[in-house]
Amino acid sequence: MSIFSLSEEDSASLKNFRDYVDEVIFPCSNEWEENESIPDDILNDFADRGFMGAFIPKAWGGMGMNNLRFGLFCAELARGSVSLLSILTVHNMTSQAILRWGTEEQKKRWLPRLSKGVIRAAFALTEPEIGSDASNITTRAVPQGGTYILNGAKKWISFSTKADLILVIAQYPEKGPAAFLVERQAPGLSITPMKGLLGFRAAEVGEVTFNDCKVGTDSLLANPGGGFTYVASHALDHGRYCVGWGGTGVIRGCVEACTEYTRTRHQFGRALRSHQLIQAMVADMATDLEAATSLAMRAADSRETMEPESIMLSSISKYFTSKAALRAATDAVQIHGGNGCGPDYPVQRYYRDAKVCEIIEGSSQMQQLMISREVFTGALVRRQRRRQRDVR
Ligand SMILES: Cc1cc2nc3c(=O)[nH]c(=O)nc-3n(C[C@H](O)[C@H](O)[C@H](O)COP(=O)(O)OP(=O)(O)OC[C@H]3O[C@@H](n4cnc5c(N)ncnc54)[C@H](O)[C@@H]3O)c2cc1C
Repeated sequence: MSIFSLSEEDSASLKNFRDYVDEVIFPCSNEWEENESIPDDILNDFADRGFMGAFIPKAWGGMGMNNLRFGLFCAELARGSVSLLSILTVHNMTSQAILRWGTEEQKKRWLPRLSKGVIRAAFALTEPEIGSDASNITTRAVPQGGTYILNGAKKWISFSTKADLILVIAQYPEKGPAAFLVERQAPGLSITPMKGLLGFRAAEVGEVTFNDCKVGTDSLLANPGGGFTYVASHALDHGRYCVGWGGTGVIRGCVEACTEYTRTRHQFGRALRSHQLIQAMVADMATDLEAATSLAMRAADSRETMEPESIMLSSISKYFTSKAALRAATDAVQIHGGNGCGPDYPVQRYYRDAKVCEIIEGSSQMQQLMISREVFTGALVRRQRRRQRDVR
């Protein structure tokens, strides 16, 4: 039996989820992108089914999925709506950070409600002037009489327009980045929706401004100084894992759309699929799908067994898969011709969302820097040798 096998129960629940995506998510997804928002009744239904807590342990009220099952779940969701996956991703980035770095009080206060989606969470690191160079953010948090006062601005924050809780990374005097759990009603906090985006149009992206925003001392997550190295890095690792799997869902969506379209569309008296240049594009898509899935599964396995290289493997998976998803979506639009540019097919949405996947959770260039560092320190070669030894 493959080490990647799911239990019968997990397979059945994944099949149910696939049906749910086919019936509820996929048919409405283009419309949500057009309206630049996902209706509340859909988000509430998604939460009521327990999906917002899919990866939160059962002990805290979540579904307690393991890494593989959660990855496959993300892939199915992305096929239906990458925007909804990105909402789930940031909600979980904050939840995972609390799970890993929160005090018992913080866990008790937030996790049960995050699991049920009763409260919604966002993750705010990027600023108008600082993105890739994230440890040098300029938002400041100053301790003052039993509170912290935050000043600054965050940009491109997914789900912020509907979030009740935002994990904010801000500089702490003399100690460096710190992480704060900021509630929506905190005085001095304002959120402005961002419209007209290329992709992730329904991901409720916004700008978050802190103007003498006052939060209690119980909002500090982990020690000041560890806000980037520990809290944000942990959250971003989770984010990259989700994007890696999400990309496999996008590629599969492209394969499925092209399978159907090339069967029914005829040119030069024959179905499109009988033209060899079309077959070549479909073959490339299928090859990318297999490669991307293998990388995502390897990342899942390494996370499950807590291998030290799991962070690197999620980074490689995210890097490869977001590029592969864009390749697949580009060809899928090409195969659909003019129809590929219109609102009646999913491929234009995949194309726009795949491009964004190359930028979020650390751009492709940031992943390349991280991966090449592993090569130059010799870690990659050592890992490959160890694997060859294990296989023998
Ligand atoms: C739809 C969407 C949703 C997002 N959601 C969130 C969110 O929820 N929370 C959040 O905190 N952020 C979010 N982001 C922000 C995202 O993480 C950043 O856009 C990303 O990290 C890149 O930062 P930047 O846009 O400032 O680009 P920059 O850092 O300015 O980089 C611009 C370009 O230069 C390249 N570059 C930068 N430095 C180097 C270097 N040293 N070597 C080579 N190339 C380099 C980059 O790869 C990029 O191509 C979101 C962005 C988008 C578009």
